[in-house]
Amino acid sequence: DVAATQAHAAKLIRKPVLPRRNRCAHKGHYGHVLLVGGDCGYSGAIRMAAEAALRSGAGLVSVATRADHSHAINIGRPEIMSHAVETVEQLNALLDKANVVVIGPGLGQSSWAQALFSRAMAEDVLCVADADALNLLAKQPALKHNRVITPHPGEASRLLGCSSAEIAADRFAAVTELQRRYGGVALLKGAGTLVKDSQDIYLSTTGNPGMASGGMGDVLSGLIGGLLAQGMAMAMATRLAVHAHGQAADIAAANGGERGLLASDLLAHIRTVLN
Ligand code: AMP
Ligand code: MG
Repeated sequence: DVAATQAHAAKLIRKPVLPRRNRCAHKGHYGHVLLVGGDCGYSGAIRMAAEAALRSGAGLVSVATRADHSHAINIGRPEIMSHAVETVEQLNALLDKANVVVIGPGLGQSSWAQALFSRAMAEDVLCVADADALNLLAKQPALKHNRVITPHPGEASRLLGCSSAEIAADRFAAVTELQRRYGGVALLKGAGTLVKDSQDIYLSTTGNPGMASGGMGDVLSGLIGGLLAQGMAMAMATRLAVHAHGQAADIAAANGGERGLLASDLLAHIRTVLN
């Protein structure tokens, strides 16, 4: 029903989705995101996700990562509170303080990753599962309503137990099935990222092939987490994050081209796009 869809879209566009910041605001008003990941060799992924959460306007951003590089993350971006977490007990204290958990960037699939993943999934907190958290989830599928999943077609094929070609043949059916099996909000990445909640499908019109490079997905998961932490509803936070992520990449590509675009080039533009 085209007319009804257009009316629905017009209503969404007119409604301000990101309220102005209150003049008397303090950081406690804007949530606390905890990002879990960054196994040895992959600290860049969790750092970029955390920076995107900061650029989305989240009040506080913490990282739980390997002891080997937690200090380097602090030095590289001092606004991030980076914690060495080698055990589930160390994660528990951090989970108590966060209102959103993003798990997966650079997580890997070691016993360390598995232990942190199982602990985070057992918590009844809003959560974004990305990257290797999705590969771990594919091994123990579970429905969860307060979770956003963010697979690219390869991760989606593992989550659905089918081939990437089957995903590509009908992306709308694939994202619908992802949401039905895993609950919450499901996203399917690519040129024209799709976002599915229990009712609607959203198709993104932003983004460019310069985004086909490492780290882009990490920026997106941090951005979704940051918007969720500020109180935005799950489907809207995911749609807005996807839109802003693509628009930030389009602005970055307009200044220098698509080839050689880096995920960290998007970070400063996220702020401009959201404001
Ligand atoms: P990942 O594979 O997890 O690093 O995520 C890649 C990100 O870049 C996703 O948000 C994709 O939608 C986006 N992306 C990758 N290639 C393209 C493309 N050709 N056009 C638009 N967006 C893309
Ligand atoms: Mg990824």
